[in-house]
Amino acid sequence: MLAASGTHLSVSNAHRRIPTAADPSTVSRALTRMTFASIVHAITDHAGRPMYGLADRPHQHSVCGDCGHLSEISAPAARVPELSEVATAVFYSTCDNCAFGAADRI
Ligand SMILES: [Zn+2]
Ligand SMILES: [Zn+2]
Repeated sequence: MLAASGTHLSVSNAHRRIPTAADPSTVSRALTRMTFASIVHAITDHAGRPMYGLADRPHQHSVCGDCGHLSEISAPAARVPELSEVATAVFYSTCDNCAFGAADRI
């Protein structure tokens, strides 16, 4: 489910992608369990909601402070600390959309 998305999902997004009728609290619990098992990792988006992504490769996150768009940044291969440290790093910035949108308004 997360692998198919190729990105990070909130609990409600993940819930919508599951064809069976699991309720959101079940999805939330499953994601929490997978987080503890280091299968997925959790970060917090600009609105304070948890977002879950696969913990299969070290990466960092850039979250747009305006629209919440999340992009992945590949972690530099030269420094590979614990995946759990790398994968939960979040930088707040402005995404291209918002940057170009702001330029349009000038
Ligand atoms: Zn991630
Ligand atoms: Zn944005």
